[in-house]
Amino acid sequence: MSDPLASPLDAVVIGGGVLGTSVAVGLRREGLSTAILDEGDVARRASRGNFALVWVQSKGLGMAAYSSWTRRSARLWPGFAAWLKEASDIDVALQQPGGFTLCLSEAEMEKRRDLLTRLTAQPGFEPMEWEMWDRARVRQALPEIGPEVVGASFTPYDGHLNSLRLFRALHTAFARLGGSYHPNHAVEAITPRPGGGFTIKAGGREIETARVILAAGVGNARLAPWVGLEAPVRPQRGQVLVTEKTAPFLNFPVVNLRQTDEGGVMIGDSAEELTDDGEQGLGILGTMANRATRMFPRIGTLNIVRSWSALRVMTKDGFPIYQHSASAPGAWLATCHSGVTLAANHAEVLAPMIKAGVLDPALAPFSPTRFHVPASA
Ligand SMILES: Cc1cc2nc3c(=O)[nH]c(=O)nc-3n(C[C@H](O)[C@H](O)[C@H](O)COP(=O)(O)OP(=O)(O)OC[C@H]3O[C@@H](n4cnc5c(N)ncnc54)[C@H](O)[C@@H]3O)c2cc1C
Repeated sequence: MSDPLASPLDAVVIGGGVLGTSVAVGLRREGLSTAILDEGDVARRASRGNFALVWVQSKGLGMAAYSSWTRRSARLWPGFAAWLKEASDIDVALQQPGGFTLCLSEAEMEKRRDLLTRLTAQPGFEPMEWEMWDRARVRQALPEIGPEVVGASFTPYDGHLNSLRLFRALHTAFARLGGSYHPNHAVEAITPRPGGGFTIKAGGREIETARVILAAGVGNARLAPWVGLEAPVRPQRGQVLVTEKTAPFLNFPVVNLRQTDEGGVMIGDSAEELTDDGEQGLGILGTMANRATRMFPRIGTLNIVRSWSALRVMTKDGFPIYQHSASAPGAWLATCHSGVTLAANHAEVLAPMIKAGVLDPALAPFSPTRFHVPASA
């Protein structure tokens, strides 16, 4: 079999998580010869531990463009899921019935209403349907809510899918399209070449490529300066609980609860400023389980069968970074903390921009130059 890394490639994507693989699939769809270089299986990744929401509600407070970008991906998702099924024979079980954030007190209802009012009143905010529902109305959609549920916010755009199947579908589609995936190829150096393009050192060899896309999650922080890019990202831990399977009772995803297509209930997901994802304690998991049980008493009768923690890739303001290097054209950076939600955008919108060599002005707000705020005296 020929060595896919022996000849110069059109594109090398560094990082084989959901984000890198989505971009790589898009680049193959655009006809570029593309390889993914990834670390080994021990690497800490967000892509195998996420909550699997395709989520729009409450995204973008502080940056209206992020809401529009998220809405765009949510709109593309049905077509992208259909394409993935065709390309990989894997159904990612996408459902987009709309989603709820449940409130357990009047104070929570007020806080929620206030947040969504401020969010949607921002200049340049794409009009979004949202409503606060009282308990009686929520109960019609979610008949098993507990007595403490006062009401909820609802937006019709939200959904969820089977996350591990998404990951497999992306990798399968990429391989079937002729892309090559290389685990145990941690990138040690990227050097711009005098006439254009890059030489990448990984897996004990040198690889040549016209374009390099940094999609290495928290690893981007180290790689970015090598090619004139910036990735001020940090790991943020999230923990998730999963119950045994039960009969379907949750017809809509709730921001912290969803019933999977296989019947288990996922309870999520914390946001902790910790880098260590090796240990879990009962404190935070107990709080998550307590709220879940108050929202749906049935959950209190179910056994917990699994729990895990994983590291999100977080920027200072929580919004994504997309950047094309000015000093090393052909080097790109992409990072975000909602790589499931944005997967359709990354494959169908961002990848064509990378092929064309131009980042659309609509993505200018996502430049890391937004962090260049002079320190106050
Ligand atoms: C608890 C939790 C819940 C979440 N819930 C949701 C959700 O509901 N909806 C949603 O949209 N998103 C969610 N996310 C986020 C989502 O999982 C990530 O945005 C998505 O996985 C994309 O991550 P990534 O590919 O950028 O990073 P990662 O998954 O971290 O992948 C980065 C890859 O780069 C590789 N790498 C790093 N350095 C190098 C190097 N030097 N050389 C080669 N390879 C390298 C790593 O090995 C890894 O494979 C959640 C995340 C967590 C942790």
